Amino acid sequence: MIYLDHAAATPVSKKVLEAMLPYFSDDFFNPSAAYLPAKKVSADYEAAKASVAHVIGAKASDLIITAGATEANNLAFTAINTDTRARPSMSSSSQISPSSVLYLVTEHDSVRRVAEHYGGVAIKVLSNGLIDLTDLREKITDETELISIALVNNELGTIQPLSDVSQIIREVKLDRMKRGIKTQLLLHSDASQAINLLEINVARLGVDLLTLNAAKIYGPKGVGGLYVSHGVRLRPLTMGGGQENGLRSGTENVPAVIGFAKAVEEAKKHLNSNRKKYTKWRQILLNELKDYEIINKKHSLDNYINICYNGLDAERLVFLLEGLDVYVATGAACAASKGVQSHVLKAIGLSDSQIAGSLRLTLGETNDEVQIHKAAEIINEVTRLERVRTK
Ligand code: PLP
Repeated sequence: MIYLDHAAATPVSKKVLEAMLPYFSDDFFNPSAAYLPAKKVSADYEAAKASVAHVIGAKASDLIITAGATEANNLAFTAINTDTRARPSMSSSSQISPSSVLYLVTEHDSVRRVAEHYGGVAIKVLSNGLIDLTDLREKITDETELISIALVNNELGTIQPLSDVSQIIREVKLDRMKRGIKTQLLLHSDASQAINLLEINVARLGVDLLTLNAAKIYGPKGVGGLYVSHGVRLRPLTMGGGQENGLRSGTENVPAVIGFAKAVEEAKKHLNSNRKKYTKWRQILLNELKDYEIINKKHSLDNYINICYNGLDAERLVFLLEGLDVYVATGAACAASKGVQSHVLKAIGLSDSQIAGSLRLTLGETNDEVQIHKAAEIINEVTRLERVRTK
């Protein structure tokens, strides 16, 4: 099998699995219980949270563990309209001013759908996938409370210049202060795809809220976290026992968080060598593949390759390649399964036929260099035959 879809899912690494296993059986105790073995589990859980938080330059108390990035993104949006009298219920967004929320048009659905729910306004991207900073400046109003921009786009791998965004936010805040406007202005970033290959420091990025995801970094699925900067007020999505500073009630998923910490630790340890390796493999693919247009030439994470076979049907290519044990994607896994056109590729201005012919290859730890050469050979043969067939 040659798996080239690591942006959709990564296998749990051996080291992560080994770290997790004792917490399913021997160390199964509820961290909230009063006896000693439970207190040990509680301490291990807190230590794991601290190591995840440390990697982004934060403390354990700044991190709310969630069941994945979708939940973390949803939780981040509860920061808007913190005046209790004006708080909307999840089923009624009418009290939120339309410009309370800005989000990048290329966001993952777990941000886009929530932003839309709150009547959010989309910020444009340029044809290279980067945020249009002029459009951002124009769309910030005195009512804007939250701006959500993924650090790395999940389809294109585009790395957004968040420090430029936070500089703009600082200027707006200063101007608001001078004019006596007290509305908060927060920056949220979904860093689900980023932590594997980028050094992240929340202070340097200037973010108030940051989403993390274990599932993309060889950790378990269904666990992630939200970094919440000091002073930011959120509303819980679940109520109950008051775990996670009262923001995410429910018995802690200890094995998953232990695995999350191990995954983050491993990612950090191998970050530079992995970046080098993927850059080399990406270049091999780009050199050996034939008859394609490259989509994300610059500004993307080292393990992303987006290519377009204009005139061919990418969904058919995915199917044909699967028959030859090569696994690739047309875009985000969730969009692909629904057969909808990629809103990301549309946003960067690709034509319908370019979108229809686009593939996303994301490299990762299941690959080696021999596989990369083999993948190029197989993709070339499949696309060549498809060109002949569709002539
Ligand atoms: N955000 C981004 C950028 C993603 O790539 C994904 C997963 O594909 C998610 C959020 C959702 O993550 P989860 O399915 O773990 O909730």
